[in-house]
Amino acid sequence: MSDKPRSPIESGCPDGFQYIHPVMRKNYGAWKFHEHPQPGVLRHVGYSGDEIWTVRVGTQRILDIFSLRELCDIGDEFADGYIHFTIRSNVEYMVADPAKVEPLIEAITAKGYIVGGTKNSVTMLSHTQGWLHCDIPGTDASGVVKSMMDELIDEFRECNMPNRVHITTSCCQINCGGQGDIAINVQHTKPPKINHDLVSNVCERPSVVARCPVAAIRPAMVNGKPSLEVDEKKCICCGACFPPCPPMQINDAEHSKLAVWVGGNHSNARSKPTFQKLVAAGIPNNPPRWPEATAIVKNILAAYKDDAKDWERINDWIERIGWPRFFEKTNLPFTKYHIDNWRGARNSLNASTHIRF
Ligand code: SF4
Ligand code: SF4
Repeated sequence: MSDKPRSPIESGCPDGFQYIHPVMRKNYGAWKFHEHPQPGVLRHVGYSGDEIWTVRVGTQRILDIFSLRELCDIGDEFADGYIHFTIRSNVEYMVADPAKVEPLIEAITAKGYIVGGTKNSVTMLSHTQGWLHCDIPGTDASGVVKSMMDELIDEFRECNMPNRVHITTSCCQINCGGQGDIAINVQHTKPPKINHDLVSNVCERPSVVARCPVAAIRPAMVNGKPSLEVDEKKCICCGACFPPCPPMQINDAEHSKLAVWVGGNHSNARSKPTFQKLVAAGIPNNPPRWPEATAIVKNILAAYKDDAKDWERINDWIERIGWPRFFEKTNLPFTKYHIDNWRGARNSLNASTHIRF
């Protein structure tokens, strides 16, 4: 046996650089500036003098093999043989010759795809994996995205928002997704229902007990079998116990709702990063088109478009006008559900007599 350590077997993602357009590869990290000649098109200029044009395209998000082949064929024929997917499932084509931009856009639109999603537009909603890849969703996030983007198609195609708008979805209440200018998140409203016959066979009870953020789960013997019980007065209906213990079913056709949150911002480019805040709760989780949630999102976007100053993101706009004005302008009702009345909220509420700014 060799005494040399065995080198690792690389079975992860291949190096992405080999798939990048050669002009992008050559100028990586050495761009002088970029500009936005028209909606959906970006022009980057490198210190080397090289230029590259990017055309951004919206898709239906969940892509079947026929659409993928079609998109790749467009790349082969009109875009130097390269195609790129953004984290919001937009497709980007890059060409090094400005004369190729218009034929590329014509080929894209001839196949029924939409060019847009750049600068101050509403770009594609990002969404979490949903039914396709995950085992705990309470809604079909990709369906919500498709339904909303169908209604926001003009906002994707044109750049007439005060600043860029990033909308996100999240199909459970605890894990990925859900931090954007506007976020559509699942909201469970009832504690989990426990199937006691299955718990002892399926669940590791200590890890389920440990999982609950408010210590509402206790071990219990039910019908002579080891099981669990939930203190429903403590439960905040977060759904964190459902992934490690599927017999604690929390998804419910009637009581799993959607909620809309606004003002989340990861970036600290112009202002500090901010958490999103709840503005609409108890919205029906209503497939296949989710009209109630879509109407609320469109309403918020219309108020933002009408009232915000240029370059204000949604959180900047609300910060300037204040939350009472936000609820007035959007006609959203302010209800008891907007108040953080959880027993642990003492730490986050202003519970002292000091005035804080
Ligand atoms: S948001 Fe939750 S349900 Fe949706 S993909 Fe992520 S972990 Fe799964
Ligand atoms: S839903 Fe959340 S709060 Fe309720 S019992 Fe499960 S983990 Fe605890």
